[in-house]
Order: sequence, then structure tokens, then C-alpha cells
Amino acid sequence: MTELWRLNLAQASEGLKNRAFTVTELVSSCLARLERVEPLVGATLAVLGDQALSQAQRLDKNGFDPSQELWGLPLTMKDVFCLQGAPTTAGSRELANYHSVFEATVVRRLRQAGAIFLAKTNCDEFAMGSSTEFSAFQPTHNPWDLTRIPGGSSGGAAASVVAGLAPGAFGTDTGGSIRQPAGLCGCVGLKPSYGRVSRYGIVAYASSFDQAGPLAMTVADCGRLLSVVAGPDDQDSTVSRAPLDDYQNPPPIAPRDLVLGLPRQLWPEDLHPSVAQTLQSAKDLLTKAGVKLLDVDLPNLKYAVASYYILAAAEASSNLARYDGVRYGFREPDQDLLELYARTRSHGLGPEAQRRILLGTFVLSSGYYEAYFRKAAQVRRLISQDILGALRQCHYLLAPASALPAWPLGAFVDDPLTVYQMDLMTLPLNLYGGPGLCLSTGLGPDQLPVGAQLWGRPMDEAGLLAAGQLLEKLWPPIARPELLA
Ligand code: GLN
Repeated sequence: MTELWRLNLAQASEGLKNRAFTVTELVSSCLARLERVEPLVGATLAVLGDQALSQAQRLDKNGFDPSQELWGLPLTMKDVFCLQGAPTTAGSRELANYHSVFEATVVRRLRQAGAIFLAKTNCDEFAMGSSTEFSAFQPTHNPWDLTRIPGGSSGGAAASVVAGLAPGAFGTDTGGSIRQPAGLCGCVGLKPSYGRVSRYGIVAYASSFDQAGPLAMTVADCGRLLSVVAGPDDQDSTVSRAPLDDYQNPPPIAPRDLVLGLPRQLWPEDLHPSVAQTLQSAKDLLTKAGVKLLDVDLPNLKYAVASYYILAAAEASSNLARYDGVRYGFREPDQDLLELYARTRSHGLGPEAQRRILLGTFVLSSGYYEAYFRKAAQVRRLISQDILGALRQCHYLLAPASALPAWPLGAFVDDPLTVYQMDLMTLPLNLYGGPGLCLSTGLGPDQLPVGAQLWGRPMDEAGLLAAGQLLEKLWPPIARPELLA
């Protein structure tokens, strides 16, 4: 029997359905893989081995249930999802001992569909970052090169899938945190449209951007995971009531019928050579198959990073005000209440979270609100109009997932502005609110994965998945690294 951790989600599900193996065998294989490679990768913050095994045994005893879409399938969850029976830390010391008394809607729906939660995965503190190095607990290593970052903030999620800890994972994407790590680690990541998936029970970073979505080894696996979690939720009034589509069987699209727009601003001359070379081959494969590629213009994109970092920091400063040491989480005791707040927040929150709080509080303060926050909100509208206009000329936009391949750990920790700039590739989509799908285009000359992403119109996940399935067939298949000799 092949080692079961090597299967993707569809293969694992097929095997369980045909009784080729039991849920306990599948879960045990993933846990054994985890035990061997996790000391190298550091993708998880909590492993739920005992719970997962006892749930597996229970499912085996009751037998296959066709009504449960994810029956017996192991998943990992970014540590921002409230999940009962495990701590929810959001990568922060502030929440190191926090056990939620309720569950995220995403978690509840996955549980009801028969999924098994194997681990909570590492992330940048409160999902703020692009490398997972801002986790208060540990860095995560890229499974393709352990000296490099896995991307972020959902770096643990991407690494867990690519290292073979589980066939699927959930992360969140506020400015690229699903797509960029998927690209840098070499898996598929889907950021649904804003409002497609409930945010209830997910530790908030920037509420008008945050969106949860799946990571897996194939586009079809991501579609299947989305189908379980998408749709209205009484607990979150921002979830759209727009009809859901069949994400498992999106209407196929032929290469000749597909027009992809390449935003000029996202294909700069000075793209890293190995990224440029790999993406050029990927584009050649598309043209050869008959896909039309078209240059499009997003003139206001030069303001995207500034606009995002003002708005996201403003929302973060307000969302993070709750971590005051009084209501819950870490507390640094003091006789004086103001001292207690100050000490708790100074010691409980890391450098990046503090930077965002300071910036966010500043841009919201009276006198600066008009100059910064309002302007940034206006720019957000202009950029959305640019993207919408470009999407009138083509079906989807195509962009690199990152201007650089996975960089060495530590390379930019003291240079936040450079890292903010690099988010240009992903964050305009969050300003707009559309769905994005990141795929691997193969390994570059330096043996590091290179990703490309498709952007679509709000609520067109089905079309995006169909286009993704086409591209996935044209591009070199994604493998997992062995990691161990
Ligand atoms: N890197 C971006 C930021 O730090 C995006 C993070 C995210 O999507 N959660 O804000």
C-alpha cells in the first residue's frame, strides 16, 4: 500500500469510500509523517493526535457515510480558527493560553461534513506578515528548502499540506496570506470573494478584508473544501446571499475560450530572474494551448500598498484593542490600570502587531483621519474600479504569486517596508474583494516553487476553479518534496 499521507484529498476520499483503507490508517499515516518531518518544518502549534485518532476510530466503527462530504479526511487549521478542544493563539503570546468556548462557523461546517482536525498551524501574529516569522512561537521552514521562509501569514498551513501532514488545510487571506504561501511552497490556495465564507469565530485582523479559504494539492480539492464552508451564516451578516455554485463540478472551459489579462504593473521588468523564467514558460504553455493573453492596465496600482496598509492597520488597531489584559488572554499584573494595559500590550504583543496598532491609531486620529484613512478608502474604490474595468476585457487576471521565490529566513525581518512592498502582487485583490486562486507553475531553476494567481469577479469562484483546472493540466504537475532521505 502506498504511504497514505502522499494522497491528495480526492484520492484519500476515494480510498476511504472503496474501503481500500480505514480512516484510522489514513490518520495514523499522516500523524506518523508529522512526527518525522515536523521537527524540520515547524508547521504546527498544536497537534491534536489523540482526538483525531479517537474520531477516526469512531468513524470506522460507524462505517462510511456518503452524506458527509469530507468523511474521514484529515485537515489542518490555521491557528486563527476557534476550534474547541485546542488552544487558539493566532500566533500571539497574548492568546497563548486562550481556549475558545465556541467554534468558528468554518470549523463547525467542516466537522459536520466529517473532517478530522489534525493540527493547528503556525502563522504570523494575528495574521500580520508575509513569512510566518512574526509568529510569537517559532518560525516555519519551507518544505522545499528548510533554510527558507514558507511565506505567510498562513505559512504553517501551506507547509503542512506540502510536507504531507494532511491533504488539506484552511488559512485566511487579508492581503495575500493564502495565495502567497501556496505559491512559495508549491500547492494550490483559494481566497474566496469577500463575503463568500463566514468570518465568525476567526480571530480578526482587518475585518473588511479577512477571508478564510482552503489550501490543498489540487484545484478540485480546493473546490470541494470551499463547497463545504461557503454560504450564508446567521452569525456573520457580511456573508453574501448570492447563490452558491457547484464548486465541485464547475462548467469546464476550453483553452480557446479563455482570455487572461496580464496587469502591466504586476509583470515588472525586474521580476526575480527565476520567477520571470518559470512564469515565462508557464505563459508559453498557455499560448501554445490556445489561451489568449492580453496586456491590461491597472493605473492606480501604485497606490495599492499604501492604501492597504493604512486601511488594514486602522482596522487592526481597532480589532486588537480588545487585548487589554482584562477580559481574556495574557495579563501583566499591575496596581495601576493604565500601567496594566500598557505592560500587557507591550509584552503580550510582538513588534509587527505593535507597529500596525501604532500606525492604525495614528491614521484614525482626529486631524489625520481625513488625510490618511479617508484618502486610502477613496483609493481603494479607484483600484477596485481599475480591476473591474480590466476584468471587462478578459475573463480573469493572471499575476505572479510573489515577485521573489521563498527568501532565506531572517532576510527581511528588520525591513518591514520592503516586505510590505512585496505584497503588491496579492493585496489589490483584497482591496477589490474578488476571489483569487494560486497555482504552482512548477519549480524554478533554483528548485523553489513558483506560483501564479488568477483573479476573478466577486462570487465567480466556480469560473475561477474551472479556469484553474485547465491551467493545472497545462502546467507541470505539483509534487511534494521527500524531505527525508
Ligand atoms: N502580508 C499582508 C499583511 O501583513 C497580508 C497578510 C494576510 O493576508 N493576513 O498584512
